[in-house]
Amino acid sequence: MDTPDKETKSLNFIESIIEEDINNKKHDGRIHLRFPPEPNGYLHIGHAKSICLNFGLAQEYNGKCNLRFDDTNPVKEDVEYVDSIKEDIQWLGFQWDEGPYYASDYFDKLYEWAVKLIQEGKAYVDEQSQALISEQKGVPTRPGVESPYRNRPVEESLDLFERMKNGEFEDGTKVLRAKVDMTSPNMHMRDPIMYRILHSEHHRTGNKWNIYPMYDWAHGQSDFIEGITHSLCTLEFEIHRPLYDWFLDQIVEGSYRPRQIEFARLNLSYTVMSKRKLLQLVEEGIVNGWDDPRMPTISGLRRRGYTPESIRSFADRIGVAKRDNIIDVSLLEFSVREHLNKITTRVMGVLNPVKVIITNYPEDKSEEVELTNNPEDENSGSRMVPFGREIYIDRDDFMEDPPRKFFRMGPGREVRLKGAYIIKCEDYKKDDKGNITEIYCTYDSETKSGSGATRKVKGTLHWVSAEHAIDAEVRLYDRLFVDEEPDGHKDKDFKDFLNPESLKVLSNCKLEPYLAHAKAGDKFQFQRLGYFCVDPDSRSNKLIFNRTVPLRDSWAKKNR
Ligand code: ATP
Ligand code: MG
Repeated sequence: MDTPDKETKSLNFIESIIEEDINNKKHDGRIHLRFPPEPNGYLHIGHAKSICLNFGLAQEYNGKCNLRFDDTNPVKEDVEYVDSIKEDIQWLGFQWDEGPYYASDYFDKLYEWAVKLIQEGKAYVDEQSQALISEQKGVPTRPGVESPYRNRPVEESLDLFERMKNGEFEDGTKVLRAKVDMTSPNMHMRDPIMYRILHSEHHRTGNKWNIYPMYDWAHGQSDFIEGITHSLCTLEFEIHRPLYDWFLDQIVEGSYRPRQIEFARLNLSYTVMSKRKLLQLVEEGIVNGWDDPRMPTISGLRRRGYTPESIRSFADRIGVAKRDNIIDVSLLEFSVREHLNKITTRVMGVLNPVKVIITNYPEDKSEEVELTNNPEDENSGSRMVPFGREIYIDRDDFMEDPPRKFFRMGPGREVRLKGAYIIKCEDYKKDDKGNITEIYCTYDSETKSGSGATRKVKGTLHWVSAEHAIDAEVRLYDRLFVDEEPDGHKDKDFKDFLNPESLKVLSNCKLEPYLAHAKAGDKFQFQRLGYFCVDPDSRSNKLIFNRTVPLRDSWAKKNR
């Protein structure tokens, strides 16, 4: 599953278009892209695909990429979202060219152009209700019905439009519509709405405006103002393209104009990606905020322990296509495992501790054993780990009555303690509920790892010295939904498919002392258990680790 080198990889369809344009000296060979998020939620992994695509193409072709906030709907937008979006893009490793820009910077220009369209008889103020306007639009197979206001005098529309702007009319009582074609089979061309009245304070323009432009009217014109050459968007906008071009035709005089190109959005299995649904999860307290490590948001993935490199390599792997499909989330997990395997120090942590007492180890003795930090990185060196008479192992690694192929600990069986000695289980103790409370072992002093000892046993366990162990809370995450496509069911709500076991908190974990000073965001491989990352809420008196992913894909086993 290695990513092929750039040299050997064939061009995707967008790269082909761009190279052709460069070869034809279109726009003097200038390449200028943009990423246009609406600040109405946090960015998710789907946006990451679009970010990697747009900023990545700008890098590849020595072009530019703008960040433009598509802030045309003040009702749903907020500066909190603006800030998080900037942070996430930079964290992914990209930097916008200048700006950032805002569609709201262009409200004056858009208004001026709208007036021009009215003057030229290409737009009019309609005073019918939203419901009636929709009804008149009709269906694609039959022509729509023209509004009685369609051919009203230009002067009347100019006057009403200005008064709409000045706040004289109630929300929803009037709209400005483009006069395009009520018979077009493309419903977006049937006199689309350009402005609606909204008496709503905007996070940047305050109360200056009482009318706000619609997406279709704002987007292409913003692209034009910024000198964008290739305006990439997802497939659902393909049907909007004739309108995108129509609006530009009305305002553009020279030969330059941006070109809209559509690509397939990223859909990921076992999650939802609509911002509306993600907001619902946050507002209903189903998750602990936008950056909950179970969320497909960039901030959630970051808190979970994902690296920017792993998300970029994921975006590279999935590529761009012209057809919608669903990518298995295990591919995302594969990408992060692959990166963390290269960069993380191997440490030992016991999640469900049970004490082991090595009865023939001298009471007053203690020693340190040497462990390699990262076998994948020869410069990573090694560290000393304290070992003693009492240690912790994971409960799962002991069975009272183990089957033959259980290569961990059981009565009379031998295992190696990672980096230390071979020990043999001699006895164990239980409480009245039947839980194992202590295990008694003997060790073979001739078997120390690295001493040239040759005796081998099948199983090797991770462990932590009881005297030196530090306490921690560990949070194990699983998929948030149990269904591959939680929002793909007609009669069911996506929340019917929530995984009740998506979060498990283990509050009595024992870690090797090396981890005492780990800081928020630090990442490790816990031997045999997976990759873990220090949570931002972690404190020196209460360490908290998040599991990013287990070492192997456990769902592949369960479900296939
Ligand atoms: P939602 O429908 O959930 O609100 P959106 O598409 O409206 O999402 P925007 O903030 O408008 O969200 O998106 C900004 C950019 O990111 C757009 O260019 C959009 O095409 C792109 N984008 C959004 N979702 C995806 C996705 N799943 N895959 C690829 N690109 C996406
Ligand atoms: Mg959008």
